[in-house]
Amino acid sequence: MVLIVDDQAENIFSLKKLLESQDFEVDTAASGEEALKKVLKNEYALIILDVQMPGIDGFEVAETLSGYSKTKELPIIFLSAVNTEKKFITKGYASGGIDYITKPVDPDILLLKVTTFHRLYEQTLALNETKKVLEREIEIRKKAQQELNDKVEDLNTTLESLPQIAFRADSNGRITFVNKKWFQYSNCTSIFPQTHPDDVEMEKIWRNAINGGEPFECEVRIKECASGLYPYHLLRIIPMKKDAGIKNWVGTFTYIDDQKQAERKKDEFLSIASHELKTPLTSIKAYIQLLARLESKKNEGSVVASYISRAHEQVGKLEHLIADLLDISKIENGKLKMNKKPFDMEQLIANVVETVSNTNHHSTLRVERAGVPMLKEIVGDVIRIEQVLINFFTNAIKYAPEADRIVLHTAINNDHVYIAVQDFGIGIPSHKKDQVFGKFYRVEESAMEYQGLGIGLYICAEIIKQHYGTYGVESTPGEGTTFYFTLPFS
Ligand code: ADP
Repeated sequence: MVLIVDDQAENIFSLKKLLESQDFEVDTAASGEEALKKVLKNEYALIILDVQMPGIDGFEVAETLSGYSKTKELPIIFLSAVNTEKKFITKGYASGGIDYITKPVDPDILLLKVTTFHRLYEQTLALNETKKVLEREIEIRKKAQQELNDKVEDLNTTLESLPQIAFRADSNGRITFVNKKWFQYSNCTSIFPQTHPDDVEMEKIWRNAINGGEPFECEVRIKECASGLYPYHLLRIIPMKKDAGIKNWVGTFTYIDDQKQAERKKDEFLSIASHELKTPLTSIKAYIQLLARLESKKNEGSVVASYISRAHEQVGKLEHLIADLLDISKIENGKLKMNKKPFDMEQLIANVVETVSNTNHHSTLRVERAGVPMLKEIVGDVIRIEQVLINFFTNAIKYAPEADRIVLHTAINNDHVYIAVQDFGIGIPSHKKDQVFGKFYRVEESAMEYQGLGIGLYICAEIIKQHYGTYGVESTPGEGTTFYFTLPFS
């Protein structure tokens, strides 16, 4: 809006008409005082200011305006009866746009000047708006940066307080932070601890982990600077994701050497103990068999004969247990070898069912069969596969004491056979299902009630893995469990 200030009503009238004819919005003031009041209250793009006015004249108005921050940039066109010197006009109003026109006013020149000043005003407004937006943007970014710095600082403090070695890296895998513990294993912030010569190099582990883009975990031995020893650590690397991309990586090395030593000692003990137990047990078994034969010759069906038979049975269980323990130590040492040959699966199933029926005194238990007969030849270690199936059956009997049947499912697919043992017993809670194949794992809820060591399924899993098959379990607590395995034809 343009403000016209003149004490002559007819001047105001003609100027107003002229500007309005060109679509300018116009306001008017009849004196310097009124002009000052209006300028402070309203927003104007330009003032057309008569110099000679009673009271406050045009120059005084201009001088006053130059003192206010709101108006010091406001352009002014002075209307003067005489050709006033420019330096006099600009006095006290150096920073704003300023011009003058002599009376009588030439309408074309006035319009030209008003248009120019008005455009200038609009550009200034737009510039100011942009400046404000930019300032706001800078403020927001500064705040976000500060928040980010605070978060990073918090994370670093947390990592510093950990008992583990901890580090952070950017999305390219460059280390950006390490805690104090790091320096027990590396002399330099940017160099990973050195791994044992028999383990994979840390750089390789790191590259693979970050190329995978997923959380990563592995056990690795790293060199302690002071002792030169290589204790076992559990390395965990976690990606910190943002907007579907990885922003950072956080990693920790947790000291697990004591656990590893304890585990090693336990395995050694199991291996020695089971070996040492095996020899005397074999002689006990031989003597019991001898006794049984002697007794059966003399007193068939006597009480002594029945005791000998029970002793024989118990020795059988002990033998089984020791065989399992020996298998465990073979697995640990990579010595559980399979003797693979073609075999008849139907025959194997028949043997297992017979063995299970003979050793089980639960007279009403039926083994039912569902699915197709296994007529195709399989290549594998027949004794080990039998061990798996017997284990599934033994568990199906043990963990279903009330049930009177077990169903054996068989199926043949394009490239593999499927065998499953279904019982109607206590079942396994769903969150524990995946763990039952773990070493020494027993479901807590039933562990007290049913005897066992928790190694049978672990050995089964290892045997099936060595045959490149798959295994698993389906179960509903209170209704029953199905353990299965598959074997490829070749
Ligand atoms: P064990 O039976 O000697 O404890 P296993 O390795 O054979 O060892 O089994 C591991 C655990 O899995 C068992 O302790 C038991 O908790 C659970 N389990 C195995 N088979 C069954 C089954 N048929 N029904 C319910 N639980 C089972």
